[in-house]
Amino acid sequence: MPKIYFIDVTNRDGVQTAKLGLSKLEKTMMNIYLNEMGVFQSEFGFPTTRHESRYLQANLELTEMGVLKPIRLGGWIRAIVDDVETAFKLVPNIRHLNLSISTSDQMLYGKFQGRKTRDDIINNMVEAVDAARALGAESIGVNAEDASRTDLDFLIKFGLAAKEHGADRLRYCDTLGYDNPFTIYETCRALAENVGMPIEQHCHHDLGMAVANSIAGAKGAIDGGQDAYINTTVNGVGERAGNADLVAVILAATKSKGFADKYRLGGSIKLTKAAKIAEFASYAFDVPIPINQPGVGANAFAHASGIHADGVLKDPENYELYSFRELGRGKPKFVETGREIIAGQYSGISGFSHLMGKMDVSFSSREEANEILELVRYANVEAQKPLVEEELLFIAKYPQIARKLLTLTPLE
Ligand SMILES: [Zn+2]
Repeated sequence: MPKIYFIDVTNRDGVQTAKLGLSKLEKTMMNIYLNEMGVFQSEFGFPTTRHESRYLQANLELTEMGVLKPIRLGGWIRAIVDDVETAFKLVPNIRHLNLSISTSDQMLYGKFQGRKTRDDIINNMVEAVDAARALGAESIGVNAEDASRTDLDFLIKFGLAAKEHGADRLRYCDTLGYDNPFTIYETCRALAENVGMPIEQHCHHDLGMAVANSIAGAKGAIDGGQDAYINTTVNGVGERAGNADLVAVILAATKSKGFADKYRLGGSIKLTKAAKIAEFASYAFDVPIPINQPGVGANAFAHASGIHADGVLKDPENYELYSFRELGRGKPKFVETGREIIAGQYSGISGFSHLMGKMDVSFSSREEANEILELVRYANVEAQKPLVEEELLFIAKYPQIARKLLTLTPLE
């Protein structure tokens, strides 16, 4: 029986969202948390964008060091040979790629203004797949952008051409959030049956259906005999109304009526990391978690009305589908209410040593402490907010990696 896997695109779709962004250290922490959670792949950035190069290289180094394992790190580029060559020039050790090209007539005429035909789209894509394979790509996903507004026969032709050239997955992009669960089920099933390749579901929330569509699309792929790879973002951040929320999709796939009886997750997902990753994303993006967010919102387990409170106290299952503990909630939180020493971009060694001492980190020499402090200062310059404990610990543990993440040199 085929299975469901997750490809989280927070570090790609999430950060390309208007008004939102992450520092390179925050993107790295996101990869670490996704790995802890058991997510199959993180779409970790843009290999053709120069300011990403060192971050991408440093994260691939973390993979080699066994820190970012078993998660796969995949880059996102356009499906053209130029982009493939640039990607391997700037990030030679990249091994997993998604190659993206628009497939709908709307985009052919509206975006490419008639400069590309359907044949050109397929030719660009297969040439890019060939180039990526020749340069050392181990896995290649091919993205049909605006797939939900693309003629199905053409989409199948596109998928078959990708498969023939050795691509590993076809990403069905509901770029505008236009699908509903009924249509995406049918399309993903038809693609799975006719193309014979694993299908990714990339869903947006413009009509409020990103999570439902992801689940329905995954069901279609599996009923069609292929693995499903659902694209998610943490807290649903993404272009416009956002993407399918990682935690909500996991909950829907594992807790909704009868679904998990037949449709299983590949690998093991640690839902107990949900609260932590959601809180980190909220802090790093500086976007509050909605109070009614499934699983991780402040009200997700709050009961006030007499009948509900009475019912949940007698038996939580009366009014809760799942326990707060399953999401890693319920531990007391330490909030400083008195004097607070914080590391910032102008911190000195005394305050910094005090702060690290509270986390049981000591330095072998004053030079070492100064070196870590200097990196922490730079990280603060980039993030423009105090670092979380785990970021400070990361810098102290992997100073050479942190140095790479924090090095931005324009116009090399
Ligand atoms: Zn998207």
